[in-house]
Amino acid sequence: MLKTSPASQRPCVSLALVVGLVALEMVQPNSFCHAQSRAPTNAADPQIAAAIRQVSAERLQQTVDKLVSFGTRSTLSAQDEDSIKAGKGAGAAREWIKAEFERYSKECGGCLEVKTDSFLEQPADRIPKPTQITNVYAVLRGTDPKQAERIVLVTGHYDSRNSDNANTTDPAPGANDDGSGTAVSLECARVLSKMKFPATIIFLTVAGEEQGLNGSKHFAEMAKQQGWKLEAVLNNDIVGGDRSPQQDVSVVRVFSEGVPAAASEAEIRRIRVLGGESDSPSRELARYVAEVGRTYLGSVKPLLVFRLDRFLRGGDHYSFNQQGFAGVRFTEFREDYNHQHQNVRTENGIEYGDLTKFVNFDYVAEVARLNAATLASMASGPAPPAKVKMLTKELENDTHLAWEPSAGAAGYEVVWRATSSPDWEHVQTVTGGTSAALKVSKDNVIFAVRAADSAGHRSLPVVPEPER
Ligand SMILES: [Zn+2]
Repeated sequence: MLKTSPASQRPCVSLALVVGLVALEMVQPNSFCHAQSRAPTNAADPQIAAAIRQVSAERLQQTVDKLVSFGTRSTLSAQDEDSIKAGKGAGAAREWIKAEFERYSKECGGCLEVKTDSFLEQPADRIPKPTQITNVYAVLRGTDPKQAERIVLVTGHYDSRNSDNANTTDPAPGANDDGSGTAVSLECARVLSKMKFPATIIFLTVAGEEQGLNGSKHFAEMAKQQGWKLEAVLNNDIVGGDRSPQQDVSVVRVFSEGVPAAASEAEIRRIRVLGGESDSPSRELARYVAEVGRTYLGSVKPLLVFRLDRFLRGGDHYSFNQQGFAGVRFTEFREDYNHQHQNVRTENGIEYGDLTKFVNFDYVAEVARLNAATLASMASGPAPPAKVKMLTKELENDTHLAWEPSAGAAGYEVVWRATSSPDWEHVQTVTGGTSAALKVSKDNVIFAVRAADSAGHRSLPVVPEPER
């Protein structure tokens, strides 16, 4: 039996009918049920809660200090042996990140596969000459042969820039943009490599972000070409909680695309007809992050922004979105543009530059905890249900859903919300089968189905496709 969430204990739940081998959960509509709009909250997994307590603000600061010490991490900066030995430039940064992953792996008996994805980028807009770009990543392989193919991924970009994107020698500390995101990826690797998960987790750091998302584009294309079952991408870019007086350190923004960048014409037509503009896989991932935020209560809460990214800016999650993968972006609430993409200097009493002293490492630690809890929850949980269908053979006021069983699932949950509501409002447990009939009209709400295991870990929810 699954634990029921507070929302499912409301009086809208009534009886379960067993028809053959399939339990059909019947849900009675009533005004109380319709009136309540409480989002489901799940019980925390004590092991995940203990793991995220290991996240350390001091360690994150050490990582960012080290990244800043390379002077510039511009993708166009030095990568030759002498510069690496001298600890300057992109090459030195890359080698240090690799060594750091390898150090974590040693501490867990070689549990991480440390890899690089290196390629020669040809001259383009912001790349004056052929340039080697290297992504560095560590794989924590899943322990369940049936689920190890499933992958969840966290990333940050280790390259930096100053006022001139073509400058390859002057300081470009990039403490917040994106030393903070790189440190989150590394810290998640350090903490989660001490645990085992049925599914696979990848800890990625990319380069070339400031040149046009080149590193993430190459990596996402590789994932697509190799047919990876990549379920989620968490991109952390500028999560330093810049210490400006107007900063709100109680929230981190989580950006997610609406209509998927990779949607075909036919898919866009269906989205238009069904009102699916706010139910892309990326948006379901954002809601999942929100739910994790309610389960593993920290001082920094996810603030969902239903938009791909900020105005005039892009990020590495988009590279994954373009290949059809669910991906979201974490960014601090309020950015200080004097502390991004700026030469380090003081002018008219204003300090410019992306310096470590402007980063709030207690904030970065909270963002890292939210990321780690999301990765751990998804990698612990079962696969999302496949082929989720909503039967629409005839005009009726009930809803019939059916799906295929998920590896690792002990049961399923149907979640739903009003079409005008941002987040799930109701949850109904389904045990002993892969279908459900609900006395709620599909015309009025948006449904999704997710799998759950016996410990209460949930998969991402999947919105049903109508089937006649
Ligand atoms: Zn950035």
